[in-house]
Amino acid sequence: APLPVPRRIKALAQEVVNKIAAGEIIVAPVHALKELIENAVDAGSTALEILVKDGGLKLLQITDNGHGIDKEDLPILCERFTTSKLKAFEDLTSIGTYGFRGEALASISHIAHLSVATRTKESSCAWKAVYADGKLASPKPGQSAEPKPIAGRQGTQITVEDLFYNIPSRRRAFRSASEEYAKILDLVGRYAVHCVGVSFSCKKHGDSSSGISVPMSAGIVDRIRQIHGSTVATELVQFKAANDRWGFKCEAWISNANYSAKRTSLLLFINHRSVESQVIRKAVEQTYSTFLPKGGHPFIYLSLDIDPQRVDVNVHPTKREVHFLNEDEIIAVICDEIRGSLSKVDTSRSFMTQS
Ligand code: ADP
Ligand code: MG
Repeated sequence: APLPVPRRIKALAQEVVNKIAAGEIIVAPVHALKELIENAVDAGSTALEILVKDGGLKLLQITDNGHGIDKEDLPILCERFTTSKLKAFEDLTSIGTYGFRGEALASISHIAHLSVATRTKESSCAWKAVYADGKLASPKPGQSAEPKPIAGRQGTQITVEDLFYNIPSRRRAFRSASEEYAKILDLVGRYAVHCVGVSFSCKKHGDSSSGISVPMSAGIVDRIRQIHGSTVATELVQFKAANDRWGFKCEAWISNANYSAKRTSLLLFINHRSVESQVIRKAVEQTYSTFLPKGGHPFIYLSLDIDPQRVDVNVHPTKREVHFLNEDEIIAVICDEIRGSLSKVDTSRSFMTQS
């Protein structure tokens, strides 16, 4: 057979590049929603409402009561690398480690139909804008792409429709809307536990009752009760730990030795972002294994504040997994606290049964 002739190398068109990059960042509807929730919380919101249709593929809508977006900023809102959260390069090490540094809305606009309605305190009305491929777009053929004045309260409503409409292979890969909705409820539930002082509701379009509903005033144990049930909420113990040398602080609510589930629930926040960590999960499970019956697993809500200069988010393209310095040492401190908490509860129990 003849040798294949090399084909010439050509640059991809910018829109193809944008679409590929966006599809890597946002793999499933839940990833878009995570960005939108974090934006709403960053905007100082105290109320978040989420509406979902077809597991988020048809519709993801999030309404907040935060500071809103200036009308003047709407033209560049969805451009790549436009952000209000970071100005100098040095800021990168101290903040902005989890967001997509101005990439979230841009990414969404490349792979979905995106519209924004927003009102600041100073504005006399709300403004609605539609976006496509990072830029303002006209809502209907022939109409102007300029933002339009509408009635509305202070805050922002982001509407994402037909996610992956222009990536048919991705669209086809989603077999079940209810599976995607379950991931969404799991994520909203995490933030609803963590963001004390913020109300959350999340429901499926057409449903009268909410999948998740947490009032603003609910404390953390109440939040856990609402979302995970009273069985676990009545068996929680709290601990706090800090260590200057490893640059961290943490606060946790964990199930005691009376509670045992089929699977571990680990609600892990690092610097107020929900993340996964297999290392922490394994270590915690290991620690619990001596306290729980065989096959039993704990519930753990763990919020870690780590000096941002010690955190590396660039280990996972979607930034769901993070690494940080002195991981082993920090995990050891946490596991010691867990052990301490569990044995304390154990002694009081045996003391009570003896008396
Ligand atoms: P980043 O969050 O990394 O800045 P995004 O693309 O997520 O990038 O958002 C771009 C900018 O849009 C934010 O910096 C913020 O100023 C503004 N923004 C996005 N969502 C909201 C919201 N819900 N309320 C107020 N401002 C928002
Ligand atoms: Mg963001």
